[in-house]
Amino acid sequence: TTEHSISRNETLRSESLFIRAQKTTPGGVNSPVRAFRSVGGTPRFITRAEGPYFWDADGKRYIDYIGSWGPAIVGHAHPDVVKAVQLAAANGLSFGAPTEGEIEIAEELCKLVPSLEQVRLVSSGTEATMSALRLARGATGRDKIVKFEGCYHGHADSLLVKAGSGLLTFGNPTSAGVPEDFVKHTLVLDYNNVPQLEDAFASMGDTIACVIVEPVAGNMNLIRATPEFLTRMRELCTEHGAVLIFDEVMCGFRVGLGGAQEMYNITPDLTALGKVIGGGLPVAAFGGKAELMQKMAPIGPVYQAGTLSGNPVAVAAGMTTLKLVQEPGFYERLGAQGEKLVAGLTKAAKEAGIAFCGDSVGGMFGFYFSEQVPSTYAQMMAGDKNRFNAFFHGMLDEGVYFAPAMFEAGFVSIAHDDAVIEETIAAARKVFARIA
Ligand code: PLP
Repeated sequence: TTEHSISRNETLRSESLFIRAQKTTPGGVNSPVRAFRSVGGTPRFITRAEGPYFWDADGKRYIDYIGSWGPAIVGHAHPDVVKAVQLAAANGLSFGAPTEGEIEIAEELCKLVPSLEQVRLVSSGTEATMSALRLARGATGRDKIVKFEGCYHGHADSLLVKAGSGLLTFGNPTSAGVPEDFVKHTLVLDYNNVPQLEDAFASMGDTIACVIVEPVAGNMNLIRATPEFLTRMRELCTEHGAVLIFDEVMCGFRVGLGGAQEMYNITPDLTALGKVIGGGLPVAAFGGKAELMQKMAPIGPVYQAGTLSGNPVAVAAGMTTLKLVQEPGFYERLGAQGEKLVAGLTKAAKEAGIAFCGDSVGGMFGFYFSEQVPSTYAQMMAGDKNRFNAFFHGMLDEGVYFAPAMFEAGFVSIAHDDAVIEETIAAARKVFARIA
């Protein structure tokens, strides 16, 4: 069809880059979801980004709703961030010795995130959760960990486990190369299922080192934890001497300045952060109670290190971003844009007679091809994947880039102003009409 040939011409350069990439890189990408396996078609190779937009290798502009999967909260290439990076780079890229910038960002994180007394900087969210886990095990002397199906915590061995269905099951690795012996310590439970969590603690509470959770889940589309779920989790961990780890790599500085822990008013023992705190460069962190953090090397027995940890250029990008999000009204505006987007999409879908709903928390949003906002992994999985894929590709043709899988949350930045949101909704109206 004409439509098909238009979109083919639009992706010629990305197509040839994708073919070339696959010769030297497995699957042509350096992180799996970028390959469009879930939606099919040609992944767009990106050449530059500014504000709410990025441009692909064929010169096409997209409104970007992944924001580098979270970090780009102030919009791409914010002049203050770019300048801070340039200034830092001119002073040398990495020293392998401490800097004042690392103190400043640690102080800032401890000031802003309620539960943080001390932090350790690392370079990825994976490192942050992996290290928090090691600390929890080191501090408690216990091996077992609890995670929830559909929560992603990076690709450390113990955390790469999906659930068996239904009741308590000890996990099987989701990836080849993860020894059964590692994951036999990982107990996978259902998100938002309080009785199941109570049962787990009743039967093995004194062997559980920690519970790790995304307090606002963004890796099974967007699913909010219920307040009861997190409250009971906090109580059970305290009762049984287990460490409560909030993985706020995604929701930290996204759902609000103090993260999900401030929003729910729950104090975890440890918190993992990433994404926004690096402003697009590799900075992540884990932290919490000083008493726990004092168990880290060099003063304690739990080892963890990194050649590029606290990298001065990355810290400059992160620190500048953390200053920008503290501008008055930042999160009110960010949250309002997320709400406008979701409301507009929902209205447009309804006009076309399509079952659709959405939710947003601060600068994070989700939309679902189903009648009701899901609160469980199973409900989310029951969404209409074919319709999502048709919508995704339709929007891509219209110049709107949503996450290329139904299982991902979306992100707005402060640069997504009303005109950008309205352009998105106008495009959605056309696409919904086509796929209805
Ligand atoms: N934890 C959560 C909640 C995440 O969303 C992610 C990444 O998407 C990670 C951990 C892993 O972070 P990274 O990709 O920086 O290793």
